[in-house]
Amino acid sequence: MNYLSTRGHPDRKRFCEILLEGLAPDGGLYLPEHYPQVDTATLAKWRDLSYAELAFEILSLYIDDIPPADLKAICARTYTADVFGSEEIVPLRELEDGVYLEALSNGPTLAFKDMAMQLLGNLFEYELARRGSELNILGATSGDTGSAAEYAMRGKKGVRVFMTSPDGRMSPFQQAQMFSLQDENIHNIAITGVFDDCQDIVKAVSNDLGFKRKYRIGTVNSINWARLLAQVVYYFAGYFQATASNDKPVSFTVPSGNFGNVCAGHVARSMGLPIQTLVVATNENDVLDEFFRTGIYRVRAAADTHETSSPSMDISKASNFERFVFDLVGRDAAKLRQLFVDDLGTQGAFDLSADPAFKQAAERFGFKSSRSTHADRLAVIRDTDKRFATLVDPHTADGLKAAREHLAPGVPMVVLETALPIKFAATLVEALGEEPARPKKFEGIEALPKRVVKLPADAEAVKAYIAQNCD
Ligand SMILES: *Cc1c(COP(=O)(O)O)cnc(C)c1O
Repeated sequence: MNYLSTRGHPDRKRFCEILLEGLAPDGGLYLPEHYPQVDTATLAKWRDLSYAELAFEILSLYIDDIPPADLKAICARTYTADVFGSEEIVPLRELEDGVYLEALSNGPTLAFKDMAMQLLGNLFEYELARRGSELNILGATSGDTGSAAEYAMRGKKGVRVFMTSPDGRMSPFQQAQMFSLQDENIHNIAITGVFDDCQDIVKAVSNDLGFKRKYRIGTVNSINWARLLAQVVYYFAGYFQATASNDKPVSFTVPSGNFGNVCAGHVARSMGLPIQTLVVATNENDVLDEFFRTGIYRVRAAADTHETSSPSMDISKASNFERFVFDLVGRDAAKLRQLFVDDLGTQGAFDLSADPAFKQAAERFGFKSSRSTHADRLAVIRDTDKRFATLVDPHTADGLKAAREHLAPGVPMVVLETALPIKFAATLVEALGEEPARPKKFEGIEALPKRVVKLPADAEAVKAYIAQNCD
């Protein structure tokens, strides 16, 4: 399988080449040259596989530069009941007639990002050892991504993590999750500033090409193709659990921010998995809902990006959206560049409302969308507790609300549970008046010794710290 850039760069690459890279050289995102097709005979064979075996089958269609036996071993040691809490890895439960929750949040950091990041950790260690090379991952986090990356990379050979976060701004639980890690290859850097300062530092360091090369700086952000690919697997696993045979359609609702999770659903659907509808659930930051309603994609300014109670969906633009739009415009790289380089560059928006391609977003690609507010989240959390004795986190609550707006008779609706409620305890307390129970392994983590350095919001200070800790 070869990979191309959405912006038309002539080079083609193999999986392991793009594994450690971010954007393509022309600023585009990598996609496979085509989506391998899965027929009903293959679905029938896959239905009874374990999650690790299913992951191996799907990844094999996209990865041909890792020997199959090695890839199989990587999948087997990534997706274990020990790490993800059950043999099913992503167990499905019916909440009410026809509405299901698929649990993606029982990994080490209690958010769905573990599903992909745990695989990435093992792939990185494998590939770096094969090259005899090292990587220093520099990131910025306001919570979920940073902790998922640290728990995936801790103790891995050849990898160090330097994770910046805004000092004092994460929830006490999130801080404790990250700062209690004592692994030598994990470096927590609390920046005196806000999340944007952290992101600016990461950009500034990455733009210093000399430094970047000398210290082998890399990232693990959500545009990484391997992360997206890992997420394709749980759409198949959810489908098999929600159906008894492979001729039945299923719909999915996905609490969305950067469009990585739901883009994996788009890939699964493009491979032939019988998905009827993909519902994109957004919060008050409704860039994506606006697009799917109107055909207009309008990037928000920082001042128009709201801080909400489903913070992992607080985005001003959706960094994986370009992948879907590339497919939407028939993989026409020139048209894609017109939209993402010219139109977004000059007007901060593009308009496909009059383009026949926009109609296809719903008709051919199955996309629908919804938006919810803080009051909606509280209402869903209370209702789900009262009627089903089930606690959901605010992001999953956004999903449930959206799902109910797009139900179709006879078609199971699977809502992806993207985090556990304990991660967002303050909103649960606001809704229900009490803290959700926390898994045993997290009892008392706030009291553990912390491993973190405080640095000013200054790229030079962060560079000096990286240099100091690189041998
Ligand atoms: C990251 C995250 C999301 C958004 O996922 P995208 O892939 O960015 O669309 C939703 N919910 C939770 C809990 C998350 O951590």
